[in-house]
Amino acid sequence: AKAQGKARLEVFDESLRARALERLDIEAGLREAIAAGQLELHYQPEVRLADGALYGMAALLRWTHPVHGAISPATFIPIAEQSGLIVPIGEWVLKTACRQAADWRARGHDFVIAVNLSPLQLSSPSLARVVDDALRDSGLPASALCLEITESAIMEDPEAARRVLRALTALGVRLAIDDFGVGYSSLSKLKHLLPVDVIKIDKSFVDGITDGADDHAIVAAIVSLTHELGATAVAEGVETAEQAAALRALDCHVAQGYHFSRPLPAYRCFSQSEIRSAA
Ligand code: C2E
Ligand code: CA
Ligand code: CA
Repeated sequence: AKAQGKARLEVFDESLRARALERLDIEAGLREAIAAGQLELHYQPEVRLADGALYGMAALLRWTHPVHGAISPATFIPIAEQSGLIVPIGEWVLKTACRQAADWRARGHDFVIAVNLSPLQLSSPSLARVVDDALRDSGLPASALCLEITESAIMEDPEAARRVLRALTALGVRLAIDDFGVGYSSLSKLKHLLPVDVIKIDKSFVDGITDGADDHAIVAAIVSLTHELGATAVAEGVETAEQAAALRALDCHVAQGYHFSRPLPAYRCFSQSEIRSAA
């Protein structure tokens, strides 16, 4: 039994070692990724449920590693966050998304572009300047940019978040609370901390909306509170027509998910028929 335990320990050590090496490999690769042109943004439509009109586009980061191929954001974003690399990467994301949105606007596509901010970016003193630079550089009006912040990033340091978010809203950008419902804060508490424009309802609640009574009730409560606060409710991860219909019946304004479209590279976004209408 002892020998077996040791063997198991070695296997465990080996896999830990492999994972640590993989991590270092990813981190080293990420350092090169911007300059090497390996990063790309994909865009996923946010569709108005009442009439199928395009409300916004969410910008999502994609990384193609020269050896490992496509690496999921779920894998590399946490490493970028822990190594601090998310700050320069996030700057690239803001610049690129604003330029793309300004380009689409110039061609008559008028909507809000949504960009994810990491907790580390939120605690960076230069964030407001970086956002201002991206707007100036692209010529995009501030009101056409929505910055998505997770509930947990705000609750980590509410005072600091309040200061940065004030500076951001002074620029005229919109703010969204991302993954709403998975944290522990109440919407009314968040509203005291910052002016919220958008609440994104987490996919985990949308998943159960057509079969689980609890999820349906939770989504109904979030939507009605969102409306009371004068904000827009966006449901995430909508995969079926039934979910879209249930959300429309709850008067949820906007939905995002594979049912309407997967995230697409910019060149495919306004080619006909890629985006399913809500109707
Ligand atoms: P998120 O901001 O909540 O983005 C939504 C995620 O759900 C995206 O995953 C999207 O592809 C996926 N999704 C959308 N509709 C559906 C659906 O109907 N079904 C399913 N199963 N999934 C759906 P993705 O692109 O892998 O991104 C994962 C997370 O990585 C994002 O979650 C966000 O937190 C983070 N992320 C992505 N891009 C950036 C970025 O530029 N900066 C930062 N800081 N984080 C980013
Ligand atoms: Ca998001
Ligand atoms: Ca989300």
